[in-house]
Amino acid sequence: MAIEKTLILIKPDAAKRKITGLIIDRLENSGFELVGAKLVRVTKELAEKHYEALKDQPFFENLIKYIMGELHGIANNKILALVYKGENVISEMRKIVGSTNPEQADPTTIRGAFGRITTKGQFENVIHASGNKEDAEREIKLWFKDDEIIE
Ligand code: UDP
Ligand code: MG
Repeated sequence: MAIEKTLILIKPDAAKRKITGLIIDRLENSGFELVGAKLVRVTKELAEKHYEALKDQPFFENLIKYIMGELHGIANNKILALVYKGENVISEMRKIVGSTNPEQADPTTIRGAFGRITTKGQFENVIHASGNKEDAEREIKLWFKDDEIIE
């Protein structure tokens, strides 16, 4: 059992639909400790670094627009970024978040409850959670300075 940290992003579709609070309610009910929280202005550079492993995917360009808030008209490209800490928090948060495809996600998960696929085929899955330990460490460094993590 390992004490880990994981990066959570409340995606622009959730911000636009004003369900940030509902999502945080579920995250908080997990019992994990919140150790970082801030609004971040998502530059194209940050977005592309965050999703660099997906750069060859056909949906990459749209994904960058999505995470920057440009598909949802979010002013100043802002997004709420959180870091949670605890035993196996990476995999435990992924269980709470649910499958990538919101139509396949279990309805008891955040994506299953709040996600959708638009008529244009865009996944709107409301939340990002780091996929594994390596990603979590890389992503937390990308989004937060050391002294912004309070533990
Ligand atoms: N994505 C998409 N279409 C796909 C796969 C992924 O639009 O077929 C988007 C979706 O927003 C997803 C993100 O790309 O959350 C990152 O993909 P990944 O496979 O890492 O899924 P996640 O780790 O977010 O579940
Ligand atoms: Mg992923």
